[in-house]
Amino acid sequence: MTTALPGVATLQARFATELPELAEPWQAAATPSPRLLVLNEPLAADLGLDVERLGSAEGIGLLTGTELPPGSTPVAQAYAGHQFGGFTKLGDGRALLLGEVTDIHGNLRDLHLKGSGRTPHARGGDGLAAVGPMLREYVVSEAMHALGIPTTRSLAVVATGRDIRRETVLPGAVLARVASSHLRVGSFQYAQAIRDDDLLRRLADHAIARHHPAAAAAPEPYLAFYRAVVAAQADLVAQWMLVGFVHGVMNTDNMTISGETIDYGPCAFLDVFEPATVFSSIDQGGRYAYANQPGAAEWNLARFAEALLPLFADETERAVEIASEALASFRTAYDAAWFAGMLKKLGLAPNPAVDAQGLANEVLDLLRSNHVDHTTFWRHLGAAARGDAEPVRGLFLDLPAIDAWLARWRALGPDADAMDRVNPVHIPRNHLVEEALAAATVGDLAPLHQLIDAVRSPFNVRPGFERYAEAAPDDFGQYQTFCGT
Ligand code: AMP
Ligand code: MG
Repeated sequence: MTTALPGVATLQARFATELPELAEPWQAAATPSPRLLVLNEPLAADLGLDVERLGSAEGIGLLTGTELPPGSTPVAQAYAGHQFGGFTKLGDGRALLLGEVTDIHGNLRDLHLKGSGRTPHARGGDGLAAVGPMLREYVVSEAMHALGIPTTRSLAVVATGRDIRRETVLPGAVLARVASSHLRVGSFQYAQAIRDDDLLRRLADHAIARHHPAAAAAPEPYLAFYRAVVAAQADLVAQWMLVGFVHGVMNTDNMTISGETIDYGPCAFLDVFEPATVFSSIDQGGRYAYANQPGAAEWNLARFAEALLPLFADETERAVEIASEALASFRTAYDAAWFAGMLKKLGLAPNPAVDAQGLANEVLDLLRSNHVDHTTFWRHLGAAARGDAEPVRGLFLDLPAIDAWLARWRALGPDADAMDRVNPVHIPRNHLVEEALAAATVGDLAPLHQLIDAVRSPFNVRPGFERYAEAAPDDFGQYQTFCGT
C-alpha cells in the first residue's frame, strides 16, 4: 500500500507492515502556529517532493505529521539500548516514522519526524524538541553529508509555535529527518530482550534487504550481514576521527545498521586537537570522548553480536566463537580505514618503504602538546605542501619539533591539491553554530542560512566566508553541549 505525497513521491509502510511488533501506530501532536524555518530543497528534489508544495499548508502538515495524506500509517518504533553502558527498553519517545519513500535514484529512505509529541515510549519526557537543537541537527548533518560522511539528512525544521520547558522556556520545533533507515543495534537488542527469535530473524532479513543485500547470497547470510555492519561502522568511525567529529552519545540505540551517523544531540567538532575531548555535559566519565569512539563502537558491535547469536548457530558456544571471530575484524577494518584516510590527509601515496603511521602519530602528538586547532592545521598543511610553511608554523610553540617533522614529510613529495580535497576549510565550528542558533531562536535566520551555505562547500575557500574558516576566538572557552534537548 502506498500513499501519494506532494510531488511524484509516494509513501510506503514497509517497516510498519513487515515488523508490526516494533511499530506502534501513533499520531503527531497538534502544532498551534507552525512556521517553516528551513527546507532542504536539494534533498526534497532528491526524494521527488515538490518544493513549492512543501512550503504550503499541505507540506507543513506533512513535515509536522499533523495533516498526513489519507492512508499513511505513522508509527513510533520500539527498540532497546545500552545507554552509557546500562541496558534499557526504549523506543521513539518523541519521534514518528511516517514511512518510506523511494528517491529518484531508486533508494528506499525513511521519512521520520523528531519532536512530534509524546508517544507510548515517552517515559517521563514531554515528546517535544526545541528550535535550537533541531536546527543544530540540520546544520551538522548537512555538514557531514557535504564532507562525504554517511549520515541521516535533515529535510526541514518547522517551528511549532508552542513553547517548551527546559532550563528556560524555549520555542518548540519538529525536525523532518531522512535516513536510509532507522534500524539500529538497539532494534535487535529489543528482539533479544523479549526472546523472540522469529522477530529477530525477520528483522535481520529486513535489514539485509535494505542495507546489505549481498549478505543474502553468502553461505552464512546472518554472519555476512553482521560482518557488513561491522565494516560499515569501522569505516564510519574512522571518518569521524579523521575529521575531528565527537558524536557524544554513542549508545547502542544511536548506532545504525546502515552505517549512517544518527542522532545529532550533544555532538561537536574538535577545536584544538585533544584526544580526551568530551563536549557533552552528561558524559561525566568521558565514555564517549573523542579518542574513545573506536572502542565504544567496538563495544556496541559486541552487544550487536550478542543479540544476533541465535542466528549464528544453534549451539550458543559455537555461536559465540563465530561472533568473536567476526568482531575481531572491526579493529583491522578500522585501522585500515583510518590509515588510508590519514595518508590522504597527509597528501601521500601508499608506500611500504615509508613509516607513514609513525609520521602521523608524531604530528598528532605535536598537535596535542601544542594545543593546535585541528581543522586549521590540516588545511594549512596544504599550503606547506605548496612551499609556504609559515601559516602552519605559526600554529606551534615548539618550532624545532614541527620544523623537523615538516622537513621529513615534505621530502616525501605530498600532493597539495589532493590534500585540499580531503581537509575541509569549513566545518560547523562550535562558536559559529552557537551564534547561528542563538540568533535563530530569537527570530533572525540570516546567520543560520550563511552557516549552512558555508558548510555545504567544505573544501572550497570562498570570498566572503573568511570568518567561517577561522578557529574559535580565545575567549570562547571550553565548549559544552547538552542532551535531553
Ligand atoms: P537520545 O539520547 O536522543 O537518543 O534519546 C534516548 C531516548 O529518549 C529515545 O528513546 C528518545 O525517544 C527519548 N527522548 C529523548 N528526549 C525526549 C523527550 N523530550 N520526550 C520523550 N522522549 C524523549
Ligand atoms: Mg536516539
